Amino acid sequence: MNFKYLFPLLFLFSCAQNENKLSSQNDNFSLNKESNEIEAEKEANSNKELKLSTSESKVKFSSKKDTLKASSYVGLDNLTDIQSLDPTILIDLKYASTDNFMKQQLYFDIDKVYLQKDVAERIVKVQAYLKSIRSDLTLLIYDGVRPLSVQKAMWKALDTIPVKDRVKFVSNPASGSIHNYGAAIDLTLAYKNGKALDMGAGYDDIREIAYPKLEAAFLANGELTSQQVENRKLLRKVMKSQGFSNIPTEWWHFNACSRAQAKIKYKILQ
Ligand SMILES: [Zn+2]
Repeated sequence: MNFKYLFPLLFLFSCAQNENKLSSQNDNFSLNKESNEIEAEKEANSNKELKLSTSESKVKFSSKKDTLKASSYVGLDNLTDIQSLDPTILIDLKYASTDNFMKQQLYFDIDKVYLQKDVAERIVKVQAYLKSIRSDLTLLIYDGVRPLSVQKAMWKALDTIPVKDRVKFVSNPASGSIHNYGAAIDLTLAYKNGKALDMGAGYDDIREIAYPKLEAAFLANGELTSQQVENRKLLRKVMKSQGFSNIPTEWWHFNACSRAQAKIKYKILQ
């Protein structure tokens, strides 16, 4: 286990969270404001309600779902809700809750996993293939499209961490993430009751034990069990069956295409 970064980071997290509460709220507020501008056009007669929601520090779109439809993010309507194609695929959108590495809710008006349509269709085929070889299992998706504005807020919230270490948590928004295009996906395998398989490290675990490239070493020294490695291999096998590629440092992350291809084919969700 590599504790080199863990302790200073734990400290930085608590600092970052306290110090950045305000700035995060401001970010939320600006998102909220932008969204409300759209809302204002749609609901020109509900000014009272509009004022009420802009005065709140937290974005609350849940009550507006029916009128706002998919989202305030321009372009989200062009993406596909994976569960609309296959409701047997489970989702647990970590950034829509506080159960993530920042311990902060980051998505306020995204409560589904959205992907580019062709990417979503490939994921449906992955699910079918998984069922054909392991009928007791399902895909459990943690994240799909990630708006660039959210990624910027994450990057800013961690600004006490040097850039070379910060990229371990969040892609630098200057170069963008394939998640911003809706062409990357974070997921695991789970039993149909939603219980995730043991991968030997949790989602967004920054420790080296989460690195696929070091699995053999951790297996050899006993920090990963053969079952945990087999579980990761099964995830990679089913994802690769539809051409998804994994990265060396996160067992849960898969790209549908390269960054260059994404740039040509898709638009970034701002
Ligand atoms: Zn990812």
